[in-house]
Amino acid sequence: MPEVHATIDSFRAALDRERTAGWRIGFVPTMGYLHEGHGSLLRAAAGDCDVAAASIFVNPLQFAASEDLSDYPRDLDRDLALADDCGAAHVLVPSVEEMYPTPMLTTVTVADITARYEGASRPTHFAGVATVVAKLFSIVGPCAAYFGEKDYQQLAVVRRMAADLSMPVDVVGCPIVREADGLAMSSRNVYLTEAQRSAAPILHRSLRAAAAAAAAGERSVAAVEAVVADAIAAEPEADLDYAALVDAATLEPATAVGGGQRFLVAARFGATRLLDNIAVGS
Ligand code: AMP
Repeated sequence: MPEVHATIDSFRAALDRERTAGWRIGFVPTMGYLHEGHGSLLRAAAGDCDVAAASIFVNPLQFAASEDLSDYPRDLDRDLALADDCGAAHVLVPSVEEMYPTPMLTTVTVADITARYEGASRPTHFAGVATVVAKLFSIVGPCAAYFGEKDYQQLAVVRRMAADLSMPVDVVGCPIVREADGLAMSSRNVYLTEAQRSAAPILHRSLRAAAAAAAAGERSVAAVEAVVADAIAAEPEADLDYAALVDAATLEPATAVGGGQRFLVAARFGATRLLDNIAVGS
């Protein structure tokens, strides 16, 4: 089983010892309720680096008052068993009081790339993410940090923050892990009713159809975006939030269908918001 650390000091000291012994740290921040998506990040960290470390912390800063903070699913015993299976050596499981003993007067905001998509729907979300990730990077120290492409805009925000602030962290993006029917794995999938769960693979199916249209020569951004928007509009369980073709690096809206793009989608299934994305013209 991994060594479980309840305090920042204990986790930091353990990782300092590992680095002093010459080991490279691979770090995976999570909010727990781990699934194979998280597992793939931990395995990548354990495979690429000498020591894999994770954090499990449901970060209040990244939830708006109306969101699911108090209902967010938790199962620490199962998480630790999965972390163990994936080769994690150290796991930080701090309380909210440990992470935020006093109200945070210091926050990290990343401009521009947070303005659209998730940032437009959840205006305080990325400041909460950037702040907790900056804090975790400061606790962990020099490392490679593994993030899923499932949260594609989050990955771009973290990359940019680490570069802008010269953090001693290599940010590594990892592919989306999916259920057999194509639904991207997410801790929030447990909220779905049976009908919503059956409808949810429309996200991946419509993204694949959009990528196929682009590959077949469709050059109109509106036409490619309509492939996803129309498919989701036709699904009674789903309510589209955004469907956008963007530059894969800058996340600027695409002006023409071309290479190096990403299609981002978010939709509500009842009260549950699900995200997905796909490479277009990679
Ligand atoms: P979370 O616990 O939801 O905050 O996610 C922690 C990390 O796991 C983030 O970097 C996510 O992008 C990543 N992740 C979540 N779901 C998946 C998935 N299905 N495939 C790959 N990575 C994922």
